[in-house]
Amino acid sequence: DTNMQIQSHRKLKLGMVGGGVTAFIGGVHRIASRIDDRYELVAGALDNDPERGKAFAVAIGIAPDRAYDNYEDMIKAEASREDKPDVIAIVTPNFLHYPVAKAALEAGFHVICEKPMTTSLDDAKVLAETVKKTGKTLFLTHTYTGYPMVRQAREMVANGAIGELRRVQVEYAQDWLAAPDEDPEAASANWRNDPKKAGQGGAIGDIGTHSYNLAAFVAGVEPTEILAELTALVPGRQVDDDASILLRYANGAKGSIWASQVVAGNGNNLSLRIYGSTGGLEWWQEKPEELWYTPLGEPRRLLRRNGVENTPAAVAGSRIPAAHPEGYLEAFANIYRDAADAIEANEAAVLVPNADDGVSGLAFVEASLESSAKGGVWVSLKEKK
Ligand code: NAD
Repeated sequence: DTNMQIQSHRKLKLGMVGGGVTAFIGGVHRIASRIDDRYELVAGALDNDPERGKAFAVAIGIAPDRAYDNYEDMIKAEASREDKPDVIAIVTPNFLHYPVAKAALEAGFHVICEKPMTTSLDDAKVLAETVKKTGKTLFLTHTYTGYPMVRQAREMVANGAIGELRRVQVEYAQDWLAAPDEDPEAASANWRNDPKKAGQGGAIGDIGTHSYNLAAFVAGVEPTEILAELTALVPGRQVDDDASILLRYANGAKGSIWASQVVAGNGNNLSLRIYGSTGGLEWWQEKPEELWYTPLGEPRRLLRRNGVENTPAAVAGSRIPAAHPEGYLEAFANIYRDAADAIEANEAAVLVPNADDGVSGLAFVEASLESSAKGGVWVSLKEKK
């Protein structure tokens, strides 16, 4: 297209903590950072095994003198360089998010952080304060907000396509923690079942926070109160692996979240269904290019990525032509691209979750833990925040 505008960008420099050779999500972050050519990975403390971390860093193109034993050394050394990173990505087990993010922000770096933002609400609040004090941004990688059709759903709700909110239903079902914890196959699972490393919440922190964030992102409003029942269905497990939560909204709307990691036959079976007074929207993560729109009294309509009736955010979040499948990597890349735009323009990234959303996530986790421990009572979210 000869009319296409060529926009040039300064390539942002990226540092990474976690995401070593055995890691699950670090590689996805690196791919996402490259999809739009907006980042260059320049430094890393990639592993809890320093030698393995440095060897892997060099193998993927990081200069040997910028491959570090640990994040403390990395942040200290990189902060005094002229060609220092613009942003540090944190892709470690949960308990490290807080100390690494705090140190990185205070040393003058922006942060791209995995969820849940911290392992406690107190830490989340301190981090949100640190963001304010330093003037840096923390981008929280709630991946599902990056899908074009999720962004479309959010815009449609905001534009009144479903009327007044009535009902929000999120289900997030997996089976990869269905076997008992000693299963040697489940390498990444180990820290997730250890409250010292994952936080007090198990499934509620791991995928409950994604579900809560997705509901809030699309509805445009958070619930005011929740009631939770958290259960460890696998015997002997120290944290919950199954969560049932009821939601109450200020306008009287109701919702529920079911998050489970122990239900056979489910891979990453996340769905969002949201209904208002004049219509509804339904989205399934395993078919991410499709959004069902159900205006009351009309046939159900299947909206597709890069199809007709796409909203601006869906169009902007879409890279390849309709019907050529896009998905998870591109959703992640939208978060990285929006973060790059925000850093470059020194503006907020409207569609990317931030430290305040991180606080909301931890308020949700702690309210769920409290509600469940008290035998299932309503807990106010506002009082937590
Ligand atoms: P993982 O156990 O597979 O990988 C963690 C990596 O961190 C490993 O390479 C490990 O060596 C490294 N590490 C551990 N301690 C370290 C230290 N002190 N310094 C440097 N590196 C260290 O875990 P994962 O599944 O990749 O999860 C990582 C984070 O990403 C978690 O917080 C998880 O909740 C989150 N996550 C998010 C999504 C998403 O969809 N957004 C998906 C998966 C995981």
